[in-house]
Amino acid sequence: MKSKCKYIFVTGGVLSGVGKGITAASIGAIIKAKGYHVTMQKCDPYLNVDAGLLNPVEHGECYVTHDGVETDLDLGHYERFLDFETSKYSITLSGSIYKELIERERAGGFHGKTVQLVPHFTNLVMEKIEKASENSDVHIVEIGGTVGDYEGLPFIEAIRLFANKVGRRNCLYVSVVYVPFINTSKELKTKPAQNALKDLRGFGIIPDIVCVRTEKPCQKSICEKIAAFSGISGDAVLNLPDIDSVYDVPFNVLKSGVLEIVNDFIGDESEPDMTEWKKFSEKRAKKHAKKVNVGLIAKYVGNEDTYMCVTESLKAAAAWNDTGVNIEWIDAEGLANMSEKDRKKTLDALDGIVVPGGFGARGTDGKILAATYALENDKPYLGLCLGMQVACIAAARIGGVKNANSEEFGASAEDKNNVIYIMPDQKGKESTGGTMRLGDYTAKLVKGSKVEGIYKEYGWGEKTKDGYEVVERHRHRYEVNQEFLSAIEKGGVKVSGLSPDGKLVEFVEVPENKFFVATQAHPEFKSRPLNPHPLFMEFIKTIK
Ligand code: GLN
Repeated sequence: MKSKCKYIFVTGGVLSGVGKGITAASIGAIIKAKGYHVTMQKCDPYLNVDAGLLNPVEHGECYVTHDGVETDLDLGHYERFLDFETSKYSITLSGSIYKELIERERAGGFHGKTVQLVPHFTNLVMEKIEKASENSDVHIVEIGGTVGDYEGLPFIEAIRLFANKVGRRNCLYVSVVYVPFINTSKELKTKPAQNALKDLRGFGIIPDIVCVRTEKPCQKSICEKIAAFSGISGDAVLNLPDIDSVYDVPFNVLKSGVLEIVNDFIGDESEPDMTEWKKFSEKRAKKHAKKVNVGLIAKYVGNEDTYMCVTESLKAAAAWNDTGVNIEWIDAEGLANMSEKDRKKTLDALDGIVVPGGFGARGTDGKILAATYALENDKPYLGLCLGMQVACIAAARIGGVKNANSEEFGASAEDKNNVIYIMPDQKGKESTGGTMRLGDYTAKLVKGSKVEGIYKEYGWGEKTKDGYEVVERHRHRYEVNQEFLSAIEKGGVKVSGLSPDGKLVEFVEVPENKFFVATQAHPEFKSRPLNPHPLFMEFIKTIK
């Protein structure tokens, strides 16, 4: 059977959280480096319809695709590793499949037939996979969780059936298993991996590659044992030991022997061009005597995943700026509760401040104080979404609106001081979930602004007949009330980018400060390790 696209299905055994997604994305990065158009998709068994309402502490950051879907951070990894734009087709959650099936059933779409997991659920998953792979040379599908989880089984059945549809030789099944080291007996135990592969076999899938994840490199005999007990060729069971940085996983994958099998699969022996990855890896690994100290003023501290794209953007920008970076997690609420002296001491110790996105009132006092400090002390400041809103509130307060606030932070809608508000045409819709600005929006940058200069310098954005325009991803509900612009300007902050119709403030800056830039968008979603975002690059360049 001929298929335009080749499919790689990645499942996990034994444990989740052992780097299945990164392994999958690394295989993708290598194939991309051979010159192919590679795309990725996550099939996640949980019953949520999208990731927008998931708690970021439990689930990590919410990532937004260019077409406005709220997804989880796996898609961020895919974009960073493959430098392509994921879309609504790149994420398939059980909840959304059930929802679609039930809606179809209610509308009489099944003409009275019994609706079942097989074939209806599985068929719809296959449709989603085909849709997501349109125009790709190689499409990689990661199945969330581990094989054997109740809710994941229909997905396993769907990817097994998929081989019937496009031909087995157009499908490559990869299983990522974990082999634990038992400290008391000082040995690696393969039994859980054997059982996981037995489960997978029970569902009709014999993998073409087994990636054996271990803490340290393991002896060949471990892989051979797994191969022998699982009916898989010894050459196809490969060791992937832990490594310091996820960005070195592609090199680990190359070393492991996966490439030979993948080459066979796609029928191309050419060497991948890993030059840029190598350059990045070297820069990233370099030990610098000096590290820049960036304070991340956060509502959630202690879980790195909550601001994954922000920290990844900072680290990549630091690497390409040939400097180290230390990210200081500062609890926004704690900052507000400190004595003025302690707060000053905390903020004085930083080279720069980042206020990331966030929702709700908690912690916003501390964020406003941090923005005020940055404004008054010329401390480099990068404001991301909520980070721009608090910067405008801080400036308006300095500019004379003493009680400047956001409608989101508990001020009533009638409050005369709402610098940040729900626009009149959005009123009343704010709890319906459908009123957020999500995904790509264009901004027109103010001619001669610092922001314009930065985007131009890095070659991001486009010159149009109306001026210089950039496209960034969004996820927010509230806007700057332009009636307060004069107060905000009086406080030192100037608008440097607006929506093309001029109605929405997209960027602000303080022209006189070393670096004070804030945006209503989330530039961190478009930053890549091999192509870091200009605003992060310039922020780090300023403070290094
Ligand atoms: N909570 C703010 C809003 O909804 C900012 C959102 C964000 O930072 N992503 O507008």
